Formats: sequence, C-alpha cells, structure tokens
Amino acid sequence: QPVVAVVGRPNVGKSTLVNRIIGRRQAVVEDVPGVTRDRVPYDAQWNGRSFTVVDTGGWEPDAKDRAAAIAAQAETAVLTADVVIFVVDAMVGSTDVDEAAVRMLRRSAKPVILVANKTDNSTIELEATSLWSLGLGEPYPISALHGRGSGELLDAILDALPEAPKIVENRPRGPRRVALVGRPNVGKSSLLNRFSGEERAVVDSVAGTTVDPVDSLVEIGGETWQLVDTAGLRKRVGKASGTEYYASLRTAGAIEAAEVAVVLLDSSEPISEQDQRILTMVVEAGRALVIAFNKWDLVDADRRYYLDKEIDRELRRIPWAIRLNLSAQTGRAVDKLAPALRKALESWETRVPTAQLNQWLTALVQATPHPVRGGRAPKILFATQAGVSPPRFVLFTTAPLDAGYQRFVERKLREEFGFEGSPVEISVRPRK
Ligand code: GDP
Repeated sequence: QPVVAVVGRPNVGKSTLVNRIIGRRQAVVEDVPGVTRDRVPYDAQWNGRSFTVVDTGGWEPDAKDRAAAIAAQAETAVLTADVVIFVVDAMVGSTDVDEAAVRMLRRSAKPVILVANKTDNSTIELEATSLWSLGLGEPYPISALHGRGSGELLDAILDALPEAPKIVENRPRGPRRVALVGRPNVGKSSLLNRFSGEERAVVDSVAGTTVDPVDSLVEIGGETWQLVDTAGLRKRVGKASGTEYYASLRTAGAIEAAEVAVVLLDSSEPISEQDQRILTMVVEAGRALVIAFNKWDLVDADRRYYLDKEIDRELRRIPWAIRLNLSAQTGRAVDKLAPALRKALESWETRVPTAQLNQWLTALVQATPHPVRGGRAPKILFATQAGVSPPRFVLFTTAPLDAGYQRFVERKLREEFGFEGSPVEISVRPRK
C-alpha cells in the first residue's frame, strides 16, 4: 500500500489535513512545537484507491531548532513515502524555515504536492498563487478545516501515487483450491478416496467457475473444494508413473496452482529430505500450509511422546504450520482437515489495520528496543501491511535491523495476530 507523508512547519494544519484526508471527524489536535504527537499512520481511501497517510509532525519532538526539525521531517518523508505533501500556511506564506525543507524535497525524485492551507476564501487564494515561487509546482489552495479544495487535492494525490499493483485481491467466488501433496506412498490416494464417495464429476462444476480437467471438486467437511491436479493421484501407473524429477515438477505445479497445501507425511517413518523439500516448496510459494501426519494408526502410544519431540525439531523452521495426526485408513481425525484448511486460509488472507499494527509495534519496540549497535540502535518508524495471501509487512526503519531482532518481531507479530497456518513475509526498508 502506497505511503503519503505530510510535511510542514508546526501550526500549518497538518493534523487537520490528515483528518480531512482520512475523513474522520475527530477532535483536531494541532501540532505544538516540542510536544510529541501520535505518529500512527492512518488508512485512507479515495475513489477506490487505498493508501496510508503519515503525519510526520512530532517525529523530532526534542529538536530545539525548528529549521532542523522540519528538515528532518522532510528527510524522513522523502525516504519512506511514495508521495510527499508539503503544507504551507497560505495566510503566512513561505518562510525561510520552509525553504531548507523545500530544497531537499526538490532534490528528491519523489513527487511533492504543495498545499496552501487555510485558504478559506478567494482573497487568500489569490495570494496563495505566489507560492509558485517555491518551485514545487502549482500550489493546491485548500481549507483543511472547512473542506474547501480537498477533493481536488485528493485527486492530485491519486495521480501521484505509483500505479496500483495488478494483483486482484478479491478472488473470484468459487471453491478454494487445495493441493494434496507428499512423496509416493504417504497415502495421498487413500486420503482422496476417503472423500471420493462424495466426489462430484468435474463437469458438474460450480456455476461461473472453470475447473481444470486435471482437478476435481471434492466435498470435505460439508464444503466443496477444488483439489488441484488430482488426476496425478488417480492415475496409478505404478512405479512407471515417472521420474522423481517429473513428480517433483508436478508437485511444484500443484502447489503453485493452489491457495492452501496439505503436505502429507508418513508418521511411521522419519521425516525425509524429500518431505522437507516439499515443505520448502510450499513456504517459498507463499501458500497456506497444513501438515497431515498420515498413518497415525501405526504409531504406538509410548512412541508418540518422542515422535512429537522429534517432529518439533524437524519442523522448527515452520512452527506456524497447522499439524494434524490422522489416518486415511481408519478415518481418524479426517474430519479435522476442513477446519484446518479454513483456519489456514483465514490467516493467509488476514489484513491488520494500519493503526492497530502500529499501536502494537510502538508498544513492542518500547518494551524491547533494538539492541544498540556501534553506539546507536536502529529505530522502527512505522509499519504497513503491503498485501495479503500471504500477509506481507513492510517495516520502515532508520537502519537495517539485526536478523535476530527481525525474527523477534516476526515471532511477536504472530503471537499478537495469529497467522496460524500461513507464512508471513516481513521486509525492512531502511532509510539510506
Ligand atoms: P500415495 O502414493 O501417496 O497416493 O499413497 P497411497 O494412498 O497409495 O498409500 C500407500 C500405502 O499406504 C497403501 O498401501 C495404503 O494402504 C497405505 N496407507 C495409506 N494411508 C494409511 C493409513 O492411514 N494407515 C495405514 N496403516 N496405511 C495407510
């Protein structure tokens, strides 16, 4: 999600403008020099586009020197934002405090929108035209307080935003796509047969959806699912079904085509390298993941405890995967599959509201700051969720984070928001 930063001297009306942009009628908090203000970013929408607005005021609360403070704001904005809004008080005009910031904004490649705020009437609007001299292009005369000109400003913001990603997040309605994968003989066909009684012919597809002929629609837990590449599981050509290379290509293809993967493992055998490779494929493809330990009926009671420990160790890189112990043969826990799939998909599509994310993050970094490195500790400025399926987060920081601290943030993020059954991607954008 693109980021729009609002920059300007104290008292030019940045908070009022942010409130206007996010369309919230809340008590207007005007910026007072030296007072730390909430720097939580807000979600905004206009004409069907979403973006994040960050009020850069309050980022340098202890700066004695106003010119330095606004320059620092501008710098942070340039580094973290896709679009910068530079706010000037139209009644005051530009001051030399503004000029330093303007110079740095002009040097940056970022689009800057110049706003002449407090343009409450046409007399002031005429005066606002003199702000052309700042060299930031046409000033947008607005009254953040009364709403004058804010529609034009929002249109200008949308024009300046980077092009929307082509990914369509609203997936078409239809059955969810599941890949049932695992090395030969783990029991894929046996598990599929469990559901086959309820299986529908592929031609009898759900209205408005196309099902690949190699897929089948299967009823699991009272819901129709699209099992991808089930043809591969059905055609039992015995040992002649192809080389391991071919099988692995087919597995990768099924995972790619699916939203959630069920990786079947054989509980009566140790987890093999091939099992691990399949798990890696799912994680790298960014798909939701349910691990089903099949043939659980072969595991005797006193081995279970040790087996669980062993499994924990083998799967420590993916502690978030949903695990099931089942038996395709006896039917044990097979009814747990559908709820596990639903849970994993729900996590996969979770979107954490920006304000909530940053409230949590602020508390986290306050309680456990990044360790000091060479006399300084990198700071996390704020975070946004860049996408879903799987959830992807971007942390804006003052410097690169230590790998250990980044893992800590991910672990805490999962503790707070769940994401059970789904990978989560975290990337760090340090200001350079
Ligand atoms: P696939 O190659 O993954 O499709 O595996 P199959 O479904 O063909 O199963 C391989 C072998 O494991 C067959 O002999 C099955 O009868 C057996 N099998 C599958 N599931 C179970 C299970 O839950 N318990 C036991 N004991 N055997 C199983």
